[in-house]
Amino acid sequence: MKIICIGRNYAEHAKELGNEIPEDPVIFMKPDTAVLKKGSDFYIPEFSEEVHYEVEVVLKISKGGKYISEENAPKYFEEIGLGIDFTARDLQTKLKEKGLPWELAKGFDGSAVVSDFYKKGDFDLKNLDFSLIKNKEKVQQGNTSMMLFSPEKIIAFVSQYFTLRVGDLIFTGTPKGVGKIAENDILEGFIQEKKLFSVRIQ
Ligand code: MG
Repeated sequence: MKIICIGRNYAEHAKELGNEIPEDPVIFMKPDTAVLKKGSDFYIPEFSEEVHYEVEVVLKISKGGKYISEENAPKYFEEIGLGIDFTARDLQTKLKEKGLPWELAKGFDGSAVVSDFYKKGDFDLKNLDFSLIKNKEKVQQGNTSMMLFSPEKIIAFVSQYFTLRVGDLIFTGTPKGVGKIAENDILEGFIQEKKLFSVRIQ
């Protein structure tokens, strides 16, 4: 299983980090060891003083394929969930400055929170509210209509480079409002009114 992540897929988030709006999707990966074990707390790694939460809608690939057209892309995922793309922002900033890959800042153990998955037909994926609550306060609020690249466009783009397999996950990017976590924070992710995950920070 691989985890493919889209960076800068919401204009307001790209802006808050001082990045340009991309012409093509910005892609990076997390290894499967990045998935935070269900029900586990997240431990802030020793190598970072500034880990940020990024709440994202996650697609689960249900059919393998390559060179998938945008039109056929809906056939390749049946379920969606919600996740956090934890990012060691201080480390990522250093890597970016040097023009180096982001994996150390994005792919470390536990950096991918992944909720249970639900039938995509239960939602309007083109207009879906999702949010992140930190210690009872809403810190991120997004709607999938604000994505620069839709799930179909992402699948079409990514599958030109990587064969998609059943069980692969695609993190579709975060809206604005990313921020730093601290010990004892509780992060709760919602799609509309439905709570999909709760994670404690250690
Ligand atoms: Mg992200």
